[in-house]
Amino acid sequence: MFYSTFRVIFGLFIFLQCVCLRADPQQVVKKISITKEGNRYQLRLDFSETFVPRIHLLPGGVKLLLSFSCDVAIPPARKMDKGIIRGYVFERFSPSSLMFVCALHENVTFISKRYSKHSIRITFEIHKKRTVVIDPGHGGKDPGASGITGNCEKNITMVTAVELRNALLKSGKYKVVLTRERDMFITNEERINKIKAANADFLISLHTDSNKDTNIRGMTVYTLPKLDVIRNAAGVDNIKDYCKILGQSEKFAKLLVRFFPNTCKMSNQPCRNSEFKVLKADVPAVLIELGCISNKIDNELLHSREFREKTIMAIQYALDSFLGDDKQ
Ligand SMILES: [Zn+2]
Repeated sequence: MFYSTFRVIFGLFIFLQCVCLRADPQQVVKKISITKEGNRYQLRLDFSETFVPRIHLLPGGVKLLLSFSCDVAIPPARKMDKGIIRGYVFERFSPSSLMFVCALHENVTFISKRYSKHSIRITFEIHKKRTVVIDPGHGGKDPGASGITGNCEKNITMVTAVELRNALLKSGKYKVVLTRERDMFITNEERINKIKAANADFLISLHTDSNKDTNIRGMTVYTLPKLDVIRNAAGVDNIKDYCKILGQSEKFAKLLVRFFPNTCKMSNQPCRNSEFKVLKADVPAVLIELGCISNKIDNELLHSREFREKTIMAIQYALDSFLGDDKQ
């Protein structure tokens, strides 16, 4: 039960091949220790014999495979519930190999893996979830643009926002906050207050376009304009921060355009700038026009769950890439 729990919960596998170990594993594995410095942990295993390991890491926990040249006794399973370590266990993997599984209380991000002749050192830190605020445009008495079939923008943005939230939560990497949870009217100020209260790392505002020319279609990603083209530069409290946040937003917009699949037709100028109020919450932010609901094809696509899933996957890829690289 203890070991199977490890297998289910933790997916980090470290395969280590020890070609020269001959002694009993209780003697071979001299010491197992965990140390903490700042927000980083180091798991260390000391061995009495020389070995040449092969190590592979996956997020979640620790698993070692030790190959021996002769039969060895298996040390008993132990629960060492100490700090981040939930416990560890030894198990025979084959007649000449031993498995070591170590369970952690938290999902972790691995920093490094090192080994010398007699020890393995694995450094990691607790995975910090980033907060993404999703803003479904319009709502309540404000229906937004009207679609070619009489549908409303506010409903498409709400459905897409909920589906995006569910996908991000399922990934386990993000905390997600919606500026509205249902069909209700909220002002831009209320949206900005919610974004700030959430201590957001990123804002994604969702909208759909509409155009008199019903042939026009495609997605567009908006960020705030450069400082020298905004109308009210005096309203910018901190020019340095504005430029930094804008640079991050533009980087994300480019990632989005790159990740959107071929089925997501982009408008003729996919990255644009506009002074949308909701983007002025002092966090990296984009406003995505998901398509033109005045166009028959775009309108049908936006009502297709399959199409929305592709769009959402692209947004998730862009977020993973952006927030994974981002060392704020
Ligand atoms: Zn809109």
